[in-house]
Amino acid sequence: AQLDEEVKVHYYHPDQREQSKRQLQIKNDLYYAADYEEFELFYQPIIDVREKKLYGFEALIRWNHQTYGYVNPTEFIPIAEQSGRIVQIGYWVVENACRQLKTWEENGLDAIVSINISYRQIIEEDFVERIKTILKKSECQYEHLVFEITENILMKDIALSNRVLNELKAIGIRISVDDFGIGYSSLSYIKKFPIDILKIDRAFVRNMDEESNDLAIVRAIVEMSRSLDLCVVVEGVETENQLNLLKQLRCRLIQGYYFSKPLPPQEIDAQIKQMNQQ
Ligand code: C2E
Ligand code: CA
Ligand code: CA
Ligand code: CA
Repeated sequence: AQLDEEVKVHYYHPDQREQSKRQLQIKNDLYYAADYEEFELFYQPIIDVREKKLYGFEALIRWNHQTYGYVNPTEFIPIAEQSGRIVQIGYWVVENACRQLKTWEENGLDAIVSINISYRQIIEEDFVERIKTILKKSECQYEHLVFEITENILMKDIALSNRVLNELKAIGIRISVDDFGIGYSSLSYIKKFPIDILKIDRAFVRNMDEESNDLAIVRAIVEMSRSLDLCVVVEGVETENQLNLLKQLRCRLIQGYYFSKPLPPQEIDAQIKQMNQQ
């Protein structure tokens, strides 16, 4: 299929041909990126606006490619998922995030670290075993760890997700449903899984104003999760207006450019130091 596409675009779409060449290059280079230490993890703060304190961070991968420069994860993660390389990359991410978490814990920081997990990862037979091994080695506190799994993944194989999630829960890792709201599942259905946190997708926040449907949807999700005893994180909050609307709905946990972009750990540390001095 890959080859057919190459040939077709060769004739009709030179731009697309360039693009698929890049995709192929990326697919190949993903095999060595971790060895070459081209990956980095950035961390985006999640703020507890009620308590006015830091709740934790989402770990987000960055790839500094030798020729392309920074490649966006929205570009290379789908390719890594398709090729299966995401499995190895995913272990690298967990290992590094846990090491960072341990460092923060040693510095007295009480914050969670939230890690994105792909479908290809959880279908690995020894996924939970390997996670346990990594965690043991890192010596971080499991109560500080959250795994983010998209709503789509949960629905893809309900029995499997349920089993894996329960095993992760059993070792103390909390589960967050990422990109919630854009799939088709209802909240009451989602509640059949052992989950702790819902992350409301940025799509709902983007066009949120006083009268929009999106605001009504966010309100409905927030109210229902309260009665189901789930935490809600709203992501993609960029403006003060959005923040105020969310505060009116009594949303507690906020992530977005309004507070901070994803940052390298050194910059996070510098900010924490500055805050402590104030
Ligand atoms: P996601 O999990 O939905 O992550 C949130 C994305 O929204 C991040 O993009 C973040 O930088 C961006 N974002 C946060 N706040 C704002 C905001 O206020 N405005 C806007 N416009 N964007 C905001 P990023 O870092 O480019 O990551 C994109 C996606 O790549 C992630 O979406 C996730 O699906 C995937 N990804 C990133 N790191 C990993 C990883 O380590 N493993 C896996 N499996 N996937 C990852
Ligand atoms: Ca996420
Ligand atoms: Ca998300
Ligand atoms: Ca997303």
